[in-house]
Amino acid sequence: MLRRTRNEAGRIAARPPLAGRPDSQTPPRTPRYVATMHDAASPSHGLSLRLNGRRVLVAAAGEATPALVRLALRAGAQVTVCGGPALPADAAHPRLRRDDRAPCLDGLRLCLTADAALAGRARAAGVLCAVPGRPDLSDVAGPWDDAAPATDAPATDAPAMDAPATDAGALPAPSRPRAPGRASLVGAGPGDPALLTLRALQVLATADLVLHDRLVGPEVLALAPAHARRVDVGKRCGRHVMTQAAINRLLVREALAGAHVVRLKGGDPFIFGRGGEELDCLRDAGLDVEVVPGVTAACAAAARLGIPLTHRDVSRSLHLVTGHGSDNEIPALDWGALAATRGTLALYMSTRTLDGVAARLIAGGMSPATPAVAVENVSLPGERVRLATLATLPGVLAGDPGEGPTLVIVGEVVARVRAGALRAA
Ligand code: SAH
Repeated sequence: MLRRTRNEAGRIAARPPLAGRPDSQTPPRTPRYVATMHDAASPSHGLSLRLNGRRVLVAAAGEATPALVRLALRAGAQVTVCGGPALPADAAHPRLRRDDRAPCLDGLRLCLTADAALAGRARAAGVLCAVPGRPDLSDVAGPWDDAAPATDAPATDAPAMDAPATDAGALPAPSRPRAPGRASLVGAGPGDPALLTLRALQVLATADLVLHDRLVGPEVLALAPAHARRVDVGKRCGRHVMTQAAINRLLVREALAGAHVVRLKGGDPFIFGRGGEELDCLRDAGLDVEVVPGVTAACAAAARLGIPLTHRDVSRSLHLVTGHGSDNEIPALDWGALAATRGTLALYMSTRTLDGVAARLIAGGMSPATPAVAVENVSLPGERVRLATLATLPGVLAGDPGEGPTLVIVGEVVARVRAGALRAA
């Protein structure tokens, strides 16, 4: 009977690049394998692990690192190296990247590591592992040598896992996995669908699954096809409906399963949107990702108020700043340096901390009389504008913080808000 066993007979075998096709440029037409596992009791039967286009992590693998990397690259994998010695200069490859941060396990097909603790975490996350010299920790065995003979690989490029099992009843007839899908990180703008970009609309129209923030309203969501699933992964009242790690996992899982996953985020995905983390996970999983920019709240608010965010006479810079640190406190920024810019500050997520933020800016030399404005629900029903100064705006917001998202703009440009714009807003 066929079993996925950790046994001594297991071999790691890599196929050379297909003749006449430069491995680094053209994706192979047929599946390739890095690992073949044979049951010692019935060596004519075996399981092969398809790695073509899948993500393989080579982590803390010591001197074996270069050989393991070559092996996985030859199998067509997207390879991330974490730890271990520097790779030789000639190891540059479009499917190879080095990332020495804590490894992202989402979407991994195989983890090759000498680090037993990492292997434990990876296996707990459902990732197949191979730990050289530790068959007890390995799902995949091998001689860790990229020169291993190709004879252990399937005799043809036909995927062994798709062939009917010869040992009747040993394996269910498997279905061919779907080709990986793709993901798009799309900025939805401040809320009004008219502020979506044309590209956002095009991308949304081809979505199979839309993972959206709470700030993305029903009118925007209605632009996705009827068949597309819509999942609210946003925050509510400071508590996450879904953790960022869970969102990352869902994104990667659904895209790998063949869906076009659209991650729809308020404003711009790369401005206080954690879009960078999602992009890393998707890329680490070897997925194609398109990023579609969106109109960020500061630009939308300035347009609504009719004020420029920069002006050659009064403001030579614009800083986008969060008033909300990861621990719900005021972030440890150099507030004195921000005050000294004499430019415009757009304060995101600052309603609850504005008192302390204003105190720090004033202590840093910014005049308490600097004009400041809070704009709530920009471009949405319930839009509200409150104009004050740096010294007085915190008190205004403390008395009535409002329920919608609120952006604060501080700087001399705010003095250009005209009464007409305020009435219209
Ligand atoms: N990626 C978003 C920002 C997300 S952080 C962007 O680029 O705009 C969330 C903060 O953005 C809110 O706390 C608020 O400060 C601001 N914000 C987002 N949408 C807004 C809106 N419609 N009106 C006012 N502020 C908004």
